[in-house]
Amino acid sequence: MNYLPIFIDIKQKPCLVVGGGDIAYRKMSLLLKANAQVTCVDKSACENVQALADQNKIALIKRNFEASDINTQALIISATNNTQVNAQVSKLAHSANIPVNVVDSPDLCSFIMPSIVDRSPIIIAISSAGKTPVLARLIRAKLESTIPHAYGKLAELAGSFRDQVKAKFTNIEDRRFFWERSFSGIVAEKVFSGRVDEAKATMQKQLDDSTDSDVGEVYLVGGGPGDPDLLTFKALRLMQQADVILYDRLVSEGVMELVRRDAELIYVGKERDNHSVPQEGINQLLVDLAKKGRRVCRLKGGDPFIFGRGGEEIETLAENGIPFQVVPGITAASGCSTYSGIPLTHRDYSQSCRFVTGHLKDGSMNLPWDELAVEQQTIVFYMALKGAKHLSDKLIEHGMRGDMPVALVEKGTTPDHRVWTTTLVELPTIVATQPIKAPTLIIVGEVVKLREKLNWFDPSD
Ligand code: SAH
Repeated sequence: MNYLPIFIDIKQKPCLVVGGGDIAYRKMSLLLKANAQVTCVDKSACENVQALADQNKIALIKRNFEASDINTQALIISATNNTQVNAQVSKLAHSANIPVNVVDSPDLCSFIMPSIVDRSPIIIAISSAGKTPVLARLIRAKLESTIPHAYGKLAELAGSFRDQVKAKFTNIEDRRFFWERSFSGIVAEKVFSGRVDEAKATMQKQLDDSTDSDVGEVYLVGGGPGDPDLLTFKALRLMQQADVILYDRLVSEGVMELVRRDAELIYVGKERDNHSVPQEGINQLLVDLAKKGRRVCRLKGGDPFIFGRGGEEIETLAENGIPFQVVPGITAASGCSTYSGIPLTHRDYSQSCRFVTGHLKDGSMNLPWDELAVEQQTIVFYMALKGAKHLSDKLIEHGMRGDMPVALVEKGTTPDHRVWTTTLVELPTIVATQPIKAPTLIIVGEVVKLREKLNWFDPSD
């Protein structure tokens, strides 16, 4: 280790920045965030630095650096483009034992400044010891995108309970268990979704009444249409903290690979006409598991509230007082059309788009066909493969042109993504003669033609 990472308290301490340019400004802003008393010395100052001085946030001395400027400073940063001045500042600071950083000159520094991820009071500092700042910044970007912003709030909340928790659990193990539960359970999730007051009340309750903390929770998570890259950060986080995962046929293998390694997996089926676990059974299972204190992720294909029966599942949870969260996912219509080069709306061809269920009930679909059989509109049929002939007949019967373009997208966004394009009148023949299997989405509308115009190549080609 070339450097010792430490965090310095510079609140109300005098800090000197030599140089008044843009880089100096950035350093000053950081020092100010840590509540330092900043003095800047330079003959000229950029607009931003001048503004800080005008607002009395820093003291600005408008002249060249002088040796006596370092007196009584707690920390010095030199950010001029004059190498002689930088070297002089460094030398003086070193001999006075004042920590000094010279921008872009690690040899002249007694400390270096890391890339930071700020979730105050949590601060993550990353350094490459000056060897490759770009890589350090890339790592920083990765952390930025995976650590929710609300971690700071969670840390604040935990801080405010610290003494109480210490008093209640004298045993270190019990204390650790309590915190672990809070940081990965309902309390954390409430903070992440902006309900800090509720989180506080829950934490207090958990602390006062240990039996209550035994109730688990349910995450109803949209797993998207197939490509795991289409998951949201929130979906991924909850998938990785759940103890049990309930999933069905629509959740792709790629997505399933991202659930917590040691989570219990329960398949609840849902092949068409062959429901492994009936819906009521799934609803009850969610309640039973949560009542045992488990964190349950109900993972669904696409979006849980779009033809996903998500509404019914949370109704049962609500009736039983089980805490839950719903995470939206990219619905099949959006994923399949985008990955097939078909914009669902387009200024010239379609001003609206309808998502419709094509599920056959007693051999027919109860749909407002007059509203559907119109121009300048895109219709996306879910669960309509078996009913393809019916929908083609009905749309034509209600006045839609037989040559209206149609696309069938099979296993959209997965490595097996496949697209057939045809016309409304030809649709039944294509479905009858081609090896098209569920899950398939049927898109009807002029926008389908854009695929050719865009010269689209499917990801699986
Ligand atoms: N909640 C899901 C839809 C469930 S209904 C969502 O928002 O996407 C199931 C139907 O969705 C399937 O019959 C099929 O029509 C469609 N579907 C889901 N995933 C699909 C995929 N990857 N490719 C094509 N169609 C898909």
